[in-house]
Amino acid sequence: MRLACRRDILRFAGMAFPFLTNACLAELVLAQSSAGKIRGVLKLNNSGKPVLAVRETQVLITGDEPTMAVFLDKRVHGLELELIGDSLPNGSFSTGPIHTKAMYVLRENKRLFVTYWCDVCSIRTYSPGVCWCCQEDTELDIRERYDN
Ligand SMILES: [Zn+2]
Repeated sequence: MRLACRRDILRFAGMAFPFLTNACLAELVLAQSSAGKIRGVLKLNNSGKPVLAVRETQVLITGDEPTMAVFLDKRVHGLELELIGDSLPNGSFSTGPIHTKAMYVLRENKRLFVTYWCDVCSIRTYSPGVCWCCQEDTELDIRERYDN
């Protein structure tokens, strides 16, 4: 039996533990959910939407505009990510805003930051695109430090 979302878990818990009140069940659900964190390999699904491959399932992931730009950056595809955010009732995962540092690359037991670097101007940004100074393309730079 696969529990796709909190609502399913709540329904399942209600069947398994009919003697519990709703408040108890809500706490049980919170304990079972993974504290707003998800890990998996970033890829695009058949519709071109970013997903994390988590074991045999694919979890649709969303975020603010700069976060979505990272998810759609093919240089990041195939990497294992850890995202901080909320599981939504529809089964998708909402990633925290980019300034909350809610996105990491997992590599060699380390959590690394996704950054972008302009070599010409020595300017670091956190979403793909051209450098706001020289308008050259920025390089993906996955690293341990967030700032310079
Ligand atoms: Zn530049």
